[in-house]
Amino acid sequence: MRYVSTRGHADKPEFCDILLGGLAPDGGLYLPETYPQVTPAELSEWRDLPYHVLALRVLQKFITDIPACDLKAIADRTYTARVYRHCRPGRDPADITPLTTLEPGFHLLELSNGPTLAFKDMAMQLLGNLFEYVLAKRGETINILGATSGDTGSAAEYAMRGKHGVRVFMLSPDGKMSAFQRAQMYSLQDENIHNIAIRGMFDDCQDIVKAVSNDAAFKARYKIGAVNSINWARVAAQVIYYFKGYFEATQSNGEQVSFCVPSGNFGNICAGHIARMMGLPINRLVLATNENDVLDEFFSTGIYRPRQAAETFVTSSPSMDISKASNFERFVFDLVGRDPVVVRELWTKVDAGGGFDLNGTPFVARLAEFGFVSGRSTHADRLATIRDVWTRHGTMIDTHTADAVKVAREHREPGEAMVVLETAQPVKFAETIQEALGREPLRPADFVGIEELPQRGEVMAADLDAVKTYIVKFCV
Ligand SMILES: *Cc1c(COP(=O)(O)O)cnc(C)c1O
Repeated sequence: MRYVSTRGHADKPEFCDILLGGLAPDGGLYLPETYPQVTPAELSEWRDLPYHVLALRVLQKFITDIPACDLKAIADRTYTARVYRHCRPGRDPADITPLTTLEPGFHLLELSNGPTLAFKDMAMQLLGNLFEYVLAKRGETINILGATSGDTGSAAEYAMRGKHGVRVFMLSPDGKMSAFQRAQMYSLQDENIHNIAIRGMFDDCQDIVKAVSNDAAFKARYKIGAVNSINWARVAAQVIYYFKGYFEATQSNGEQVSFCVPSGNFGNICAGHIARMMGLPINRLVLATNENDVLDEFFSTGIYRPRQAAETFVTSSPSMDISKASNFERFVFDLVGRDPVVVRELWTKVDAGGGFDLNGTPFVARLAEFGFVSGRSTHADRLATIRDVWTRHGTMIDTHTADAVKVAREHREPGEAMVVLETAQPVKFAETIQEALGREPLRPADFVGIEELPQRGEVMAADLDAVKTYIVKFCV
C-alpha cells in the first residue's frame, strides 16, 4: 500500500515512512493511493471476530510494510480488556467498544473506555505501540512536542508513557483545565513524560509548538515530532470501530447502518467515510457540531469558511471548539475526484485565511453520494439531551455525545439503524453534568481520588526560549 499527498507530491511513501511524520512535503495530507476494498466474503468472516483480530484484518489493508506476525503482536497488545476496562457496569471490557441500545435501532458505541476516558485513546494507544516498534527497528528516538487543552494531550501521554525511544513534552495552559483533567496528566510519574504548564492560554501553548516546528534546525537536531490529529495512523485506527459498530448493530451484511459523529477536526468522521469507501454498508454519515459550526455550515451550504480564533466560542463540549478542521482536506480530496490541482487551489485560499464555495461546481452533488448530512447543537440542547437520555434510558452521556444524540434524532428516518459514537465519559465534564442533572457524574473505580495524587510538572512563562532550553536539557 502506497500513500499519496492530497496536494499531489510525487513521492508515494509506505505506511512506516509516514507514521512518524505529519504533513507531506508539499503541505498536503496523506491518504491511501486507492481505498482497499472489503469483499462480501471478508465481511462475513469478520463479523464475529474479537476486536483485536478484527483490528489486525483492517490494519493489514493499510499496512503492508510491517510483517504480519509483528502487526498481530502489536494489535494483540493494544486492544486488551485491561486497557479498555473502564466500561459501564454490566458491559464486557473484552468487547473494547460495547454497544448500548437506547431504543430499537438507536445505539451508542462506547469508544471512551480507555485510559483517559475519551475516544482518542482508541487510536493513540495503537500509535504508542507502533512508534515503539518502528523506532526500535530503525534505532531512532523521537521527542513528541504538543499543546493541549485537555483530551489529546492526556491520550498521547497515556499512550507513550514508558515507551522506549519516545519522550513527550506536553504544553498546557496553567490553571485552565478542569481539576480532573489536570490530575489525569500531572499525576503521571513516568520519566519520559514532561508536563509543562504555561502561564497563558491554550493559544500561547500552540504558538510555542508552531514556532518550534518552524525552526527546522532545532527540529532536526532534537528529533521533534508530533501526534496531532492529521496523523494518518490515527485515522486508520479509527476505521476499525466502524466495522465493529456495524457488526454489533446488525444481524446480517445485507443491512445498512448510519453513524452520527460529534465532530471537531473531522478525524473521527473521516475514518467513517473511509470505511464506507472500503465497502462497509454505511447508509449515512451524520456530522454533529456544537456552536462552532464551521462544518455544519459546509455540509448545509457548500461553503467552507474557517473562523478566526476570536470567532471561536468556548463551549461545554470543548473538544469540538475548533475554528477550522485539520482533517477536512482529506475528505475534500475525494470530493473533488482526487484532483490535487483543485485541492491546491482551494487550500491556497484557506492557508491565506480565506475559505471556498463549492456551489456551482459538480462537487456539491457528491456530498449526498458520500452519504453526508449535518446538524448543530447548543448548550441548551446539550443539557436537554443529557437530561432526556438519563431520565428515559437511565444512561448518562457526556456533552459531546449529547450533541451527536441531538443531531442524530433530528435526522433519523423511520426504520433507519443509527449508531451514535460516544466520544467521552461524563466524568470529564462534571460541571455540565451537574448543571443538567443536579448530581455528580459516575466515576470509574480507578479514578476515585485521582485529584489527591501527587502531581508533577514544570510551570513556565509563555516563552519560546525557556521551552527550548527545557527540551535541550533532557535531550543530550
Ligand atoms: C477530539 C474529540 C472530538 C472531535 O473529534 P474529531 O476527530 O476532532 O472530529 C469529539 N469528542 C471528544 C470527546 C473529543 O475528545
